[in-house]
Amino acid sequence: MSGDISLIIVGGGPAGLFCALQAASENIDVLVLEKKRSCGNKLLISGSGQCNITHDGEIRQFLLRYGDNGSFLKSSLMNFGNQDLIKFFNERGVPLEIEPGGKVFPVSRKASDILDLLIHECQRSRVKIKNSNPVTDVAYINGRFQVTTSEDMNTSNYLVIATGGETYPATGSTGDGFKFASRFGHTVSDTGSALTGIQVKDYRFSDLSGISFADLTITLFRDGKKIKTHTGDILFTHSGLSGPGILDFSRYIRPGDTLKISLTPGIDTREMNEVLIKRISESGSKQLRTVLGGFDLPERVVRRLLELANVDPDLTGPHLTKKDRIVIVDLITACPFEVSKLGGPEEAMATWGGVSLSEINPKTMESRIVSGLFFVGEVLDIDGDTGGYNLQAAFSTAKLAAQRLRVLSEDVKN
Ligand SMILES: Cc1cc2nc3c(=O)[nH]c(=O)nc-3n(C[C@H](O)[C@H](O)[C@H](O)COP(=O)(O)OP(=O)(O)OC[C@H]3O[C@@H](n4cnc5c(N)ncnc54)[C@H](O)[C@@H]3O)c2cc1C
Repeated sequence: MSGDISLIIVGGGPAGLFCALQAASENIDVLVLEKKRSCGNKLLISGSGQCNITHDGEIRQFLLRYGDNGSFLKSSLMNFGNQDLIKFFNERGVPLEIEPGGKVFPVSRKASDILDLLIHECQRSRVKIKNSNPVTDVAYINGRFQVTTSEDMNTSNYLVIATGGETYPATGSTGDGFKFASRFGHTVSDTGSALTGIQVKDYRFSDLSGISFADLTITLFRDGKKIKTHTGDILFTHSGLSGPGILDFSRYIRPGDTLKISLTPGIDTREMNEVLIKRISESGSKQLRTVLGGFDLPERVVRRLLELANVDPDLTGPHLTKKDRIVIVDLITACPFEVSKLGGPEEAMATWGGVSLSEINPKTMESRIVSGLFFVGEVLDIDGDTGGYNLQAAFSTAKLAAQRLRVLSEDVKN
């Protein structure tokens, strides 16, 4: 059986559903083809099932939250920002609230409330949703899109690819959109895991798992060369490092890289050396571990650092040799962690890489290669920090595409 429709949207995640309901409310007939038995499976597990839908604050500041690609989102975020998203849900009976740190959640803390509303709004605007309909092929023939599913083939004037990234494949996001993009001649950059913890080679902090630090500076080295620096909260895990500081930085980290972490925020190696000399001289016969504890380091961490430096923790300050002091200062201000592995697709919350942005018009989300073709949400080479930035990008890009679709369909009618 085949069908002929104005707009087909591939993927019923937040980006696909939001684009569908926005376009349908402009009298465009829309068909959403969803691979899984139901839509929005990733949305349901977002924010541990509570859905951190966006972030509070000045929308311009959002642009800094998508690594090197934030500027691409300028038009979409300025067009439909965090306050617009909050208003959209508030006005429709799903109130959102801002946590003290700025994260925005539904008051109910239920991601299902967000999904239910999106589906309800789609139904209200007569969007047709076909679940259990994995799209297997796409083509552009004689000015129309041909979309083949396991069930049938449909044709449309316009096509939106909203298939998400390639992590948490059980939710349906398996990178199919990258293949579809290539079919239309689009470039797809390398992809990998973002928003993930790292495993560390010869990790010596397993038993300190659960200890966290605020606002540490992390410097990334590759082949001995400094690549990038980032500041954020860090958590020791059983096999490596996690916490927002690592998750947000993970888009840049590759196996084999070394992270050097300063465990004392705001104090560099030279300064630390000077301060330590001063504190030792002032501390009389105090044990070294007591002196180091004065730098706000947990006692178990101090003991481990001294162990790594081969220094007796009961040694008194004045007995510390210059050589050992330099080793300790280095460990505290640039503690090295060699990355053996990043979390794989089963655990990474986002995908870095995707459909190349240079071939997409950032003001409309329309392809620069095939007119009438759009890409929205995580299928794009966009990944945000933790804190609601990915969902905001999904909604904002979807909204922009729907606005352009309205203009295109009005042009056809006139
Ligand atoms: C555990 C976890 C927690 C997260 N928490 C948050 C959070 O709190 N806040 C936040 O901002 N972000 C969070 N994210 C990220 C966020 O969920 C995603 O960035 C967002 O869902 C992307 O939306 P999307 O619509 O682009 O893609 P997706 O949500 O991935 O949806 C894509 C849809 O397309 C369908 N599809 C794929 N291929 C096909 C095909 N061939 N045919 C038909 N359908 C297809 C899929 O089944 C899926 O339904 C989290 C991610 C994970 C994994």
